[in-house]
Amino acid sequence: MAYTIGSISARCRASVSYRRRMARWGVGGLLALFGAGLICVPRANLTPAALAAEAATYVRPANLVGSKVTVTLKAGGSLDDVEVIRVVEGEAAGSIRIVTVKDPSTSEALPLLASKIVSLSPGPGTVQYTFDDASKRLLPDDPEQRAQLQQELAKSAKGSAVSGGTGKTPAATHSHEKSGRAGSEHTTTREPRPKKKSPFDIPVREGTHVWPEQSEADSKKLLTEQKDYLKKVQANFPNRRFSFAETKFFIFLSDLPPADLQLYVPYMDAMYRRLISTFDLKPDTNIWLGKASVIIFADQEMFNEHETQMVHHNAPAWAQALAHLSSDGNVLISGHTTGSTRLYLAQSLVHETTHGFLWRYKTRVVIPLWVNEGFAEYIASAIVPDPHGTVAKEKLAIKKMLASSSMGGNFFDNTFNTEKYGVASNLTRYMITIDAKRYRIFLEGLKAGMEEEESLKNSYGVPRERLVQQYGRALGILNLQP
Ligand SMILES: [Zn+2]
Repeated sequence: MAYTIGSISARCRASVSYRRRMARWGVGGLLALFGAGLICVPRANLTPAALAAEAATYVRPANLVGSKVTVTLKAGGSLDDVEVIRVVEGEAAGSIRIVTVKDPSTSEALPLLASKIVSLSPGPGTVQYTFDDASKRLLPDDPEQRAQLQQELAKSAKGSAVSGGTGKTPAATHSHEKSGRAGSEHTTTREPRPKKKSPFDIPVREGTHVWPEQSEADSKKLLTEQKDYLKKVQANFPNRRFSFAETKFFIFLSDLPPADLQLYVPYMDAMYRRLISTFDLKPDTNIWLGKASVIIFADQEMFNEHETQMVHHNAPAWAQALAHLSSDGNVLISGHTTGSTRLYLAQSLVHETTHGFLWRYKTRVVIPLWVNEGFAEYIASAIVPDPHGTVAKEKLAIKKMLASSSMGGNFFDNTFNTEKYGVASNLTRYMITIDAKRYRIFLEGLKAGMEEEESLKNSYGVPRERLVQQYGRALGILNLQP
């Protein structure tokens, strides 16, 4: 089968060896959460204000633990470059009641009440905490977050002053409402309740190409053609011994020993199951035309030969794996093992196949690069836990963002370089951690043909600029620039 390339995507080999401890802010908590999966219980409240409040909680003082800070003391003087050992938050999450640092002279734990502190600074470009007289807590300097915390703290102070007397009111109101409804039942004929519209069902915009459904017979025919293509690849390299594998949704060809090829197979099936559940599709849904083809070459030279001779495309030297997404819907993934660990190649294959899945999901819309790459990296790291792959790229990206308060200068351009992967996947992780449901609505909107800004507003209720600001604050960066 000839593959006409509609769009092509590559995951680079540039392996990142960043072994230093995790960047000081944010990521630890975000990483801990991502295993929970993409689909979580829908939130009751989807207003932008609720989102802003929620996003603010990601600037958690707990992220200070392990980092070096400068503490300016009310008694005069300061503790410079001391390590934070423990943080006790105030009544509002995000405020600080007690911070314990390592005493520079004795190396012992030194607990400091907020009221003893003027300010606490983790370094330039990061969120500072200063003492708030009204609440007697340390609050972040960001004016918006500060005002919000002040409000919450004032409320909780008031609440504790009057607690005890208000408990019964909500229950009483509730029972009143109940009896009111029961009364109306006698006089009205009950219509069947209209089915609530799912926020994921976004009408496809006019002019958007929806992938046609394929019949069983079509699928079989295509699969035969796809297998013929693999046979041609085999014939093209007569000196190599190939092995073949097939699962419900994939066909594989490789000149690796059969046992080695088998190592990659479960990852692809796991990725497929994951995405099927992410998008609430029936487990036996076939997103592909026929099946997705995966070719793994033992070395880069053969991989390159395949690309030039059979797909008629020159693979970039840094490509570890590629996705060939044809305009008629075919998906072919190719990769090679040169210069890569098994885990890294597995991540790369899952990454590329995620592009394939997004390509085949509902419509032919190509979603913005940063979303596509970020989601592919996120899924790859969720399926293949490689400490030197996606996670390392994210750590490096965070380190750079902390140092420069910038996502690279042109993050949202429709160009991609190796540096952008870490930022894209970390931003995606942030968006999914905040609310996986919103993230899916965001993707659904894009695939339905919405512009990025429109879909972002429809899902997260914020313009892109604000998303960047909130993301920055989650990392401890006050004014993050794209
Ligand atoms: Zn990619």
